Amino acid sequence: MSNIQALRGTRDILPDEAVVWQHVEATARDILHRAAYREIRPPMLEQTELFARGIGEATDVVGKEMYSFEDRGGRSITLRPEITAGLVRAFIGNKLFASGGVQRLWHTGPAFRYERPQKGRQRQFHQLDVEILGSRDPRADVEVIAIATDILQTLGLKSLSLDINSVGSGADRQAYRDALINYLTPYRDDLDSDSQDRLTRNPLRILDSKDSRTQEIIQDAPSLLDHLSEDSQGHFDQVQQQLSALGIDFTINPRLVRGLDYYTHTAFEIMSADLGAQATVCGGGRYDGLVQQLGGPEVPAIGFAIGLERLTILLQQLQTTPTPTLDFYMVSRGEKAEPVTTVLAQQLRHQGFAVEVDLSGSVFGKQFKRADRSGAMACLILGDAEAEGGTVQLKWLSSGEQAELSQGELLDMADTLKAKIATLR
Ligand code: ATP
Ligand code: MG
Repeated sequence: MSNIQALRGTRDILPDEAVVWQHVEATARDILHRAAYREIRPPMLEQTELFARGIGEATDVVGKEMYSFEDRGGRSITLRPEITAGLVRAFIGNKLFASGGVQRLWHTGPAFRYERPQKGRQRQFHQLDVEILGSRDPRADVEVIAIATDILQTLGLKSLSLDINSVGSGADRQAYRDALINYLTPYRDDLDSDSQDRLTRNPLRILDSKDSRTQEIIQDAPSLLDHLSEDSQGHFDQVQQQLSALGIDFTINPRLVRGLDYYTHTAFEIMSADLGAQATVCGGGRYDGLVQQLGGPEVPAIGFAIGLERLTILLQQLQTTPTPTLDFYMVSRGEKAEPVTTVLAQQLRHQGFAVEVDLSGSVFGKQFKRADRSGAMACLILGDAEAEGGTVQLKWLSSGEQAELSQGELLDMADTLKAKIATLR
């Protein structure tokens, strides 16, 4: 019988790599908690309509990439292609707006898109999603950009660049949309076929086209920034001033339009020069219209999503992730000795030590070799003689220094042992 393979575009994150993910998650959680963000855990399955309404039918994500199916009750269900829409659905459904204040929320987990798999692009991938709901203040825009930057920099990433733009208000975009259609219509036949489709449905998305001929045409297209109202321009100016005050470098990219329909005002992307074609690590922006569009009250919001696969690819290139360390490796042999390890290991763990028990029952020599490879600071050795005497041998693996002590003494000297382990690390 042939093996069952993982689905194309999905991958197993094996234990060595999971360490990198844990490091990313712990770093992000720490930064987010210090800025008063609270975790929310919405489901991965949602009604298909949520994404159709919340992301927009004319986007690639909804039009081409969703994992949608009918469940046994005949409902149309979709595996979330991103996190924001579900988070906003939860915000509305659970009336998190009722307090009237600002909600700072974050979530991390998988998202699903039916795309052509390649480096940094999978069908099941993971995002870290961060949102502020309930503030129109440009400081909110700057806060989330600063948090994204902080997470990436704290992780040690280099050669990052931040692009920002303003897509204005709905009204600004309407005016710009007309100007853009007027400019592009004479070139219609030269545009790539996706862009031809978008010319009437979602012309702003054409600015995002990767096609080289379309890109050439767009070079001379009117700029969104010339169509901003005074208020929109004022908002954008403040964002820029505050980013500068924080020492965060940015480039204004008037062609940066996030692919999703609900974005207003600030849009931003953080790219890495070390990622090749899939360069965007983080994408975000303001979405003042979304909560209302999904049936909630008028609540402005801004947020971002970091693509964690792309982030971990970069981190693995750096190889700076700390590996978790073991304090004791416990070896034993004999009918009396082996059962003692279960109890002693548990007692040590309750005192805060990391302990691995060798379960092989093989000769001591083989168990010692595994102890050396385990990365533990010390080896605890139990033979039947020790078991009968209620003792244990403690061997420090770096020096080879060894002593026999009673199991009670070992447990009593936890603080001394911790201090010694700390100096050895
Ligand atoms: P791209 O232009 O690379 O397709 P996108 O605009 O579709 O990105 P967003 O919807 O903004 O991406 O998602 C936010 C982030 O999630 C991206 O910047 C990227 O890091 C990550 N991401 C999106 N799609 C995938 C995928 N299929 N596999 C891995 N990561 C992804
Ligand atoms: Mg995409």
